[in-house]
Order: sequence, then C-alpha cells, then structure tokens
Amino acid sequence: MKYVIIGNGVAGIHAAEAIRHLDAEGRLTLIGDETFPPYCRPMISMVLEGATPPERLPIRSTDFYRRLGITPILGRRVSGIDVEARVVRLPGLEDGIPFDRLLIASGADPRPITADGLHLAHIFYMRTERHIREMLDAIPTVKTALVLGGGLVGFKAAYGLLRRGIRVTQLIRSAYPLSMQVDRTAGEMILNELVRKGLDVRVGLSAAAFHGNGRVEGARLSDGSEIACDMVVIGKGVLPALSFVPRDRIDVDLGVLVNAHMETSVPGIYAAGDAAEFVDIARKTRWVNAIWPEAAAQGRAAGMNMAGRPVALKGSLSRNVIRIFDMDVMTGGWVDPPESAGFEILSRHDRRRKTYRKLVLDGRRLVGMAMVNDIAQGGLLISLIQNEVPLRISGNALLSSGFNYRQLLN
Ligand SMILES: Cc1cc2nc3c(=O)[nH]c(=O)nc-3n(C[C@H](O)[C@H](O)[C@H](O)COP(=O)(O)OP(=O)(O)OC[C@H]3O[C@@H](n4cnc5c(N)ncnc54)[C@H](O)[C@@H]3O)c2cc1C
Repeated sequence: MKYVIIGNGVAGIHAAEAIRHLDAEGRLTLIGDETFPPYCRPMISMVLEGATPPERLPIRSTDFYRRLGITPILGRRVSGIDVEARVVRLPGLEDGIPFDRLLIASGADPRPITADGLHLAHIFYMRTERHIREMLDAIPTVKTALVLGGGLVGFKAAYGLLRRGIRVTQLIRSAYPLSMQVDRTAGEMILNELVRKGLDVRVGLSAAAFHGNGRVEGARLSDGSEIACDMVVIGKGVLPALSFVPRDRIDVDLGVLVNAHMETSVPGIYAAGDAAEFVDIARKTRWVNAIWPEAAAQGRAAGMNMAGRPVALKGSLSRNVIRIFDMDVMTGGWVDPPESAGFEILSRHDRRRKTYRKLVLDGRRLVGMAMVNDIAQGGLLISLIQNEVPLRISGNALLSSGFNYRQLLN
C-alpha cells in the first residue's frame, strides 16, 4: 500500500503515526513545505509573549521520520493532485508521487489583506515558526505595534506584545475581541482587562496603507487618520491552504468536505485538520473548526481509516481555554447562537467578582458554554456537549461550578 500525506503539521503527523501503528509495511511518504521539526503552532504565541523559549516548539524529535519508516519530502510545496492517475504533483518531479491512499492535511494560511506598502520590513503574519523567529528578531527595536484583527491570532499577538512591554494598538471589526469564540459579555470583560493593561483598541477601522523607509514606521487607517508603529501583525483569520486541490474533482466549500471517516468525495482521498470541513456537533452543520485538538483527532482517525481500520468520528467541536493576564476564559460549542435558533440561554454574571458563566441549551442537550474566571468543571461541560449527553439535572444547577456530577452521569 502506498500512503501519501500532504502536510507535516499536527494532523499529518498523527495520521502518519496511526498508519504506521496499523501497517508496518506500507510505503509512507509525508510532504511538507516547512523544514523545522513538527511543532506546536499554538505555542508560537507563548514564544511571542516570552513565556516559552523557541526551543520548546517541537513536538517530535528530529529522527521522528526515520524511526517510523516515513520518507519525508520537506521544504517542497505540492502543486497538484491528479485524481485519475492517483499521483501527487511536485514542481520539478515529472512523474509525481503515486498513492493508493492520500491525506490532505495542508492546514491553513493567514487570510491576506490588501493595503499599500505591505512589502515593508516588520510587517508580519503569525502562523509559522519562521514568522515567530522573524518577530523575535524585530522585537528589541520595537516600541509601538499595530495589530490588525481581533480573532484568535490577532488577539494573541496583541496580548503577547503587550506582555513584552510594547505599546499596542489593535484594530478590530466587531465591538470586542474573540467574537467568534465568546459572546458580548465575555468579550467586553476581556476587552476591559486588556485596556486596563494599556491596550489601545480601535473599533470598525482597517489599515489602508503602510509607510516607512525600508521598514514600517506608520499606517494610514480607513478613516484617513495616521498612526505611528514600528511593527505590524496581521491577524485577520485563516483560510484552508488548498491551492493544489482540483475543485472540479474533489468537493470543496471553505475546506475540503469530509464524511465521518474523514474521506473526501473521492474514495481513497482523505482530509483532516484546518484544511477539512466536517459537521459541527453543536451547530449540526458543516464547519471548519480550525483548532489543535480537532486537527490531532481528525488526523488520527484519517490515518486509521487509510490503513484499513474503520473509525467514524461524530463531528467536530470548537473549544478553547485562554489565559489573559489573571483572567481565565473557557469556551466550547456554539457560544453565541442567534435568537432564531430557539435555544435556551442561561447565564450568571457577577460584576463584583468579575466572573461569568453562560450555558446554551437545546432542550436537554447542552450545545454551548462560555466561562470567565469560573472555569471549574468546564472540561466536563465540554464533554457533555461533545458526546451529546442528555442532561439529568437542570441547566440552572449546571451554572454553579459546584454541581453534582455524580447525579449528572448516573
Ligand atoms: C498563533 C496561533 C495560535 C493558535 N492558538 C491555538 C489555540 O490556543 N488553541 C487551538 O486549539 N488552536 C490554536 N491554533 C490553531 C492550531 O495551531 C491549528 O488548528 C493546527 O495547527 C492545525 O493543524 P493542521 O495539521 O491542520 O495544519 P498546520 O499546522 O497548518 O500544518 C499544515 C502543514 O502543511 C504545510 N503545507 C501547506 N500547504 C502545503 C503544500 N502545498 N505542500 C506542502 N506542504 C504544505 C504547511 O506549511 C504546514 O506545515 C493557533 C494557531 C496559531 C497560528
């Protein structure tokens, strides 16, 4: 059996390990355009804030490929897939790489922006080990930074730079950061905490142009105002990295569409991680949940199916735990559904203690939750959402972190 995996991120390496676990003989090729050993992308933001040294990024040792009998092709970008000939195309390799089973685990790329002056030095995206290395080189000379975007990456960039003592201005479209992860109440609590620590937030603005002499010195914003900055981080979300996928042959929406076995519309071709679009357990609709634990779980499941052990996943679920200065935030599932979804919303907000707990219920089923500074038993709530466990105690009882979980699971 010839297995080929495109992508040496967490989804790709978990797939490779699952395949090797089940099939010691098959030929296994892993193609990735990064050459650094497999690493933990979420830790990039911890390196930025100075909480972790860059040497801690790798999650597998350098002899990982040799130990598992994998042929790595690193530092090369796949340019296409010939579905009929069952071959992966690489520039300069005429015959391509043949496969019986293929996994698309190419992750995501930062969503690009359009603005004048993007070529200037010290304007960064924050996705890869190379990006963080370049940012670390720049930081000693940086006093003021501009961060574009209030999603997970924009937020983590702003937080990390603030922790480095840099003056940060953040431009966000919604009224508060992390609007895809949290609701208005939690978002405003986070925003207040960041502002208290010195963050300057400007809402509803974007950057139209950057200027400087070789490296960035300032930006013109969409309202015509000017802002000085000696570093810019663009964190406007990500898009599945699928330039090489033939969309006339493999079904793609935002990500590559997969079924419960992580198989695409073409038998024998699979997808996993940030590149894949799967059913979301809370929303009951197709969704790209671009998070680390999903990429690992989907990669593992894809690998098992590729090696002939049928495994079905129920769906994917968004979830996150974030520490912001002294504030703990935990979210899971569908945190902020529209009223038209008809869900019951229960919440408890203690302004004095700065705690917040919110639950979203679809009948007896928990479909979403957000917690600030009161995250006890949050992991259990996430597993209730993930496993669609019918609640045996009232939603109101669950609002208190001291709920009796024996009653819940009896
Ligand atoms: C700064 C930051 C903070 C994050 N924080 C969190 C967090 O707190 N919690 C959380 O759950 N998730 C977080 N994430 C998201 C998480 O890192 C991703 O969901 C996860 O890494 C996805 O894994 P993947 O294997 O699908 O893709 P990736 O890790 O992106 O790996 C894909 C690999 O494929 C390679 N590739 C792409 N195209 C090609 C091609 N044509 N040819 C060859 N190789 C190719 C890429 O270069 C890359 O090496 C964060 C991400 C970032 C960037």
